Amino acid sequence: MNVPFLDLKAQYKTIKDEVLPAINEVIENTAFAGGPYVAKFEQAFADFCGVKHCIGVGNGTDALWLSLVALGIGHGDEVITTPNTFIATAEAISLAGAIPIFVDIEEKTHNMNPALLANAITKKTKAIIPVHLFGQPADMDPILEIAKKHGLKVVEDACQAHGAEYKGRKAGSMGNTGCFSFYPGKNLGAYGEGGAVVTNDDALAANMRMFRDHGQAKKYYHGIIGWNARLDGIQGAVLSVKLKHLADWNDARRKHAKRYSELLASVKDIIVPGEMDYAKHVYHIYALRSPERDKLMAYLAEKGVSCGIHYPVPVHLQDAYGFLKYREGSFPIAEKCASQYLSLPMFAELTDEQVAYVAQQIKGYYA
Ligand SMILES: *Cc1c(COP(=O)(O)O)cnc(C)c1O
Repeated sequence: MNVPFLDLKAQYKTIKDEVLPAINEVIENTAFAGGPYVAKFEQAFADFCGVKHCIGVGNGTDALWLSLVALGIGHGDEVITTPNTFIATAEAISLAGAIPIFVDIEEKTHNMNPALLANAITKKTKAIIPVHLFGQPADMDPILEIAKKHGLKVVEDACQAHGAEYKGRKAGSMGNTGCFSFYPGKNLGAYGEGGAVVTNDDALAANMRMFRDHGQAKKYYHGIIGWNARLDGIQGAVLSVKLKHLADWNDARRKHAKRYSELLASVKDIIVPGEMDYAKHVYHIYALRSPERDKLMAYLAEKGVSCGIHYPVPVHLQDAYGFLKYREGSFPIAEKCASQYLSLPMFAELTDEQVAYVAQQIKGYYA
């Protein structure tokens, strides 16, 4: 049996009849850049997240960068985040002119350890970016409390956590802004690139709306120096169609994750991912941990099972961030996890047979 890591075609087949007319309508109306199809999606996504404003942007990296710029973060400032993330979190900090400061993760959440935050705060610290990695929210209450105490902004990197919840609150709705990516493989993915920032702050929303469109509120009258970070009309229409299915797709992911964990419970040599009591995990990634990760991955590939690694090198050890002078051993939990992570096939349309087959092969490896 062949089990792909991700099968976008399988999902497309289930919504083809809805999504093709929606795309066609945008083309018939030539509403390509920004416009009504984007505005409609923005309203729906703001409602979905339980926030006042959603600003569609070009991608998730734009969403993070725009948030920082709109919050006034720039040259000489420090922004605290975790090294256990996709590089974009740190890139956005760097592109805003600030310096990323990392704190290690908690082994049980794979997210920022709030207990290490206070030590990382200096006079230059302006913001914290918790990442809801793999679809499970970071432990937000202590993070929000520390931020409040020190007058820091909080930008949530919810790029892997569409629809995830923390104590009943939606990922992205708790910080000053929440940032989403609609990269095709995300839980809510566009048919191209896309992203969004959500916020309850009216002034911030107005600023980001102008900024993403060259700083103009009225065409060719530029109040601020902005950028082109618009979401395009076709993506707005596609995302509106797909948003209606997101809750079901997330439920399917949760079901597959539960099944993987049940079937693999007897395998002593691996650690399966857990769901925190406070969380609704949406399993963008199902990352188990194995000390023999590379050998296991090769074995599974031979059996037709495609896996991924998210991510093999934590951000502080990437060549791009060599100038920060972190070393191996700087963040031991993140480093240990990175050497052990193995992401199993995960998408809503996986069949029960495929899930069972993957688990069976893992058991076969260890037998
Ligand atoms: C995908 C992702 C991003 C960046 O999103 P793009 O749309 O690819 O720019 C940022 N942070 C995390 C954690 C991501 O997974």
